[in-house]
Amino acid sequence: MTTLSFDSLNPATGEIVGSHPKQTADAVHEAVGKAEKAAAWWAGLAPAERRRRLLDYKAVIAQHIKELAALVHDETGKPVGDATLEIVLAITHIDWAARNAHKVLGRRRVATGMIGLNLSATLEYLPLGVVGVIGPWNYPVFTPMGSIAYALAAGNAVVFKPSELTPGVGVRLAELFAESVPEQPVFQTVTGLGETGAALASDPRVKKVAFTGSTATAKRVMAACAENLTPIVAECGGKDAFIVDADADLRAAADACLWGAMSNAGQTCVGVERVYVVDAVYEGFIRELSERVATVKAGDQYGPITMPGQLDIIKRHIDDATKSGKVVTGGPDSVRPPYVDPVIVEDVPEDSPAVREETFGPTITVRRTRDAQEALELANASAYGLAGTIFSRNTRRAMELARMMRSGMTAVNSVISFAGVPALPFGGVGDSGFGRIHGADGLREFARPKAISRQRFAMPGMNLTSFARGADEIERLISLVTFLHGRRKR
Ligand code: NDP
Repeated sequence: MTTLSFDSLNPATGEIVGSHPKQTADAVHEAVGKAEKAAAWWAGLAPAERRRRLLDYKAVIAQHIKELAALVHDETGKPVGDATLEIVLAITHIDWAARNAHKVLGRRRVATGMIGLNLSATLEYLPLGVVGVIGPWNYPVFTPMGSIAYALAAGNAVVFKPSELTPGVGVRLAELFAESVPEQPVFQTVTGLGETGAALASDPRVKKVAFTGSTATAKRVMAACAENLTPIVAECGGKDAFIVDADADLRAAADACLWGAMSNAGQTCVGVERVYVVDAVYEGFIRELSERVATVKAGDQYGPITMPGQLDIIKRHIDDATKSGKVVTGGPDSVRPPYVDPVIVEDVPEDSPAVREETFGPTITVRRTRDAQEALELANASAYGLAGTIFSRNTRRAMELARMMRSGMTAVNSVISFAGVPALPFGGVGDSGFGRIHGADGLREFARPKAISRQRFAMPGMNLTSFARGADEIERLISLVTFLHGRRKR
């Protein structure tokens, strides 16, 4: 039987970067079978041994950082510097997951309470087995590693299906892991198109699926997982808002806004897409933004649009926004495939596609608001809820706004800064998905709580879970519970 293959292309030049097999459902199932055995072996290692292997993997990646960054550059088109930055972030996450896994997941005693006085209770988080990771192309190292590293650290084996646009990076990540863990295929990559991912999601031996990509595909993956009651963590897109309050440092805000919106050609799930600026500082902010954007150009500071089909969506949003709004920078001519130069449009109606739908391009809409409260209301009026930004010199007010923002993460006086803090969980609400990667929550996402209660001694006169129980024992129980819980709080 011949296996068909597909090419990954450099989106800037169209050159072939590599050729990879379109792995069939049979091949995926074979990989999952091997992963099941590897998972048992990996879970059987002492936590300290898994930690050592993962820290070694981190070192191997660090030693190959230039080679890996060049491959990311070739497959996505992003500048090598940006590719390096995402690998550095991935390294810090592997390090954190390795060092904290046992602390977060290891066995501990929990209090039993008065009624369970004769018990000893322990809680620990055990591995699930095989975790299927389905990844995107926009950050082909950092994003999937947010699931892979945490799943491995929690004692699972991983089968990873990278995006068809970045298969080479996915293959290399697993090859490098084998340098640190040569005995068993604890981390495997399977390559192919959507069907390969679908085969992974529908394999009943996969005990959890970690998906990153569009909301529409997340629903399809979830439907496939529903057949086997396989849980999923879904990290889907966003339409993140950036709020500039009246007392913000406008230069810093404009600088952060521009980078948050345009870096990686806007192909960032937590990228800035909507900007709300309080009336009192509106003109000043637009002035700062316009000055800075004049020096930013696609092909210089950032690369091409990686996925050719995305250009149509970006163009549709720009066409619509420039018809109804006022152009600050760029316009329909900014789309010059495969590049898109920065586009900034003011006063775009809140119900237009450029404000409601994920654009995933180097474009922003900017709107004047009466005050920060109105900015927050508009920011929160989105089906998405991934992340967002607040700029304000008043720390208390900024923290209040950040807490009220309907999103999984918010950066204050910085942009996307939460992604570089491994201890912080990452994920969204609403159409942005559910579940969390990164941090302690990210480790627990790939583990199952195991609760054990052990009787240390029989409670004299209180044998409640026995048919030999007498009425006097229930009376004693009522007295105890009334004493413990029967006082009203007025
Ligand atoms: P998709 O949601 O289509 O794909 C994401 C991943 O899912 C890829 O690995 C893809 O494989 C795989 N996949 C596709 N179909 C299935 C299926 N039926 N079952 C299992 N896996 C499947 O995203 P795209 O890459 O096409 O990008 C489309 C949009 O998604 C973008 O416009 C953007 O809005 C959003 N997006 C959001 C990202 C984020 O970080 N939140 C990242 C990337 C995209 P394959 O590549 O082979 O099709």
